Amino acid sequence: MSDTIFSKIIRGEIPCHRVYEDDAVLAFLDVNPLSKGHTLVVPKEAVATLDKLSEESAAAIGRVLPKIARAVMSATGATSFNILQNNGADAHQAVFHVHFHVIPKVEGRGLGIGWEPMKADNAELKALREKIAWAAATETQKG
Ligand code: AMP
Repeated sequence: MSDTIFSKIIRGEIPCHRVYEDDAVLAFLDVNPLSKGHTLVVPKEAVATLDKLSEESAAAIGRVLPKIARAVMSATGATSFNILQNNGADAHQAVFHVHFHVIPKVEGRGLGIGWEPMKADNAELKALREKIAWAAATETQKG
């Protein structure tokens, strides 16, 4: 994959407002925040989308996310927050290096959500369940 601005931040070639770092993860403030405290949690592994992430990086991100969420809430006074993780241009991804947004609800600001559910057809749900469960089992066997 091409080098993104996040790889340059991870290598220290361009600055960021760092709030946390360990061997596998870097977290820093978003420079165009949706609310005060909007933070990005980024695995150091350079892959574009979540489905490409190694188990090691996924585990490292999973360990860090709750800590950053607690830190953002305690620093901002927020009691609610959203985690947003975009994959692919159609899904609003702009930087093609996996990252998780921690977006607190602060001063009436935060993540706006357009949520337009469809009517679910039971036969279609059944067919989809079978396909996805089979694919998930195959993924699990791959290790
Ligand atoms: P996404 O649409 O999920 O790819 O979001 C990318 C996010 O990265 C946006 O919210 C940007 O404001 C943020 N961003 C881009 N460049 C920087 C930077 N140099 N430092 C901090 N945040 C950045």
